[in-house]
Amino acid sequence: MKKKNSMTTNRRKSIWVFGDYRNYYQNRVTLQLIARAVALAKTINAEVCALIFGHEIDEWIMEYTAHGADRILAIDDPALKSYSTEKYLAIIERLARERDPEIILIGATDFGREFAPRLAKRLKTGLSADCVGLDITEDGLLLQIAPSFGGNMLAEIVTEFHRPQMATVRPGTFKEIPHDYERTAIVERLPLMKGLPKPRVRLIEYERSVEKEHTIENASVIVCGGRGMGNKEKFKKLQELARLLGGDVGATRPVVYAGWAEHNVLVGQAGKHIKPKILFSFGISGAIQHTAGLGEADFIVAINKNPQATMLKMADVAIVGDASDVVNNLIKELKKRIRE
Ligand code: FAD
Repeated sequence: MKKKNSMTTNRRKSIWVFGDYRNYYQNRVTLQLIARAVALAKTINAEVCALIFGHEIDEWIMEYTAHGADRILAIDDPALKSYSTEKYLAIIERLARERDPEIILIGATDFGREFAPRLAKRLKTGLSADCVGLDITEDGLLLQIAPSFGGNMLAEIVTEFHRPQMATVRPGTFKEIPHDYERTAIVERLPLMKGLPKPRVRLIEYERSVEKEHTIENASVIVCGGRGMGNKEKFKKLQELARLLGGDVGATRPVVYAGWAEHNVLVGQAGKHIKPKILFSFGISGAIQHTAGLGEADFIVAINKNPQATMLKMADVAIVGDASDVVNNLIKELKKRIRE
């Protein structure tokens, strides 16, 4: 949609976050987007509006309110019991045309990736896919930071002339706001619109897939190792340290390429986005492609023999020294404490 002149509308700007509540307790991307939207909304004096479609959705209305939404647009109807790209598309398109949101944010889940580009096409606006950062420019535009040219660069994209400004964002990029059940929001319960197109796709059966792969995205302690660990044997020691700390091991790309660790623990732009309460970083230089995956780690302890290493500069505790020595000493100390 063409951007409207500010003289033609005096409604408060709105940042919409699409509510993808499937697999809620593992898939936190909607809450992470609401948190980011709350920060962005302050800058442009907007409200944060969560969209919730489905059947028996009161739980999600409560959750999104508790996690920061100012307004909820809810459609509760048995016809929306299961996700349907075609139905959801038609609904959001109509709502967007009626209400003219400034920004629409969608989690880069399988579903979000499927319907966001279609929605952007229908609304005749741009979409930045798989963003790893969002901000507001000095002109009040949504700054969409996304990997481009095969991931070799991070592009900063703005949608100057069309509305809404749209982005899908990778899970784990932002940190959710802790719930506050005292919070209130304006809840608009809308009827299911008439005349929606009959979906061409029919859901026959739904079966939850069994998660086989261990994921480090939700770990609260992560011990991450880089090329500075020296070799595979020394890198293996990180497993022992992680076990003693009750955490998981992460790795940089050279380590994965060298076969010291599996690809499913790669941290960074091409791998997992993590948000641990404490991150130990051993022998890692701190290249942008790696730090892009560190999200909002609460507390970083970095060990590097080079005092100029970027990773040390972004750490809360920076230790200049040999990574393996520190790992071995920590293991020794932790074992001693367990025995005591
Ligand atoms: P290095 O950069 O070689 O750093 C090793 C560090 O160890 C140095 O700082 C050194 O001072 C220190 N060191 C050496 N010996 C010791 C010692 N004995 N004790 C303590 N410190 C020591 N990388 C990722 O990690 N994740 C990604 O998702 C990712 N995606 C990428 C995507 C693209 C398209 C490209 C081009 C690159 C990508 N990379 C990614 C690679 C990235 O650019 C860096 O090359 C990589 O992160 C560096 O890993 P490193 O820190 O382990 O190794």
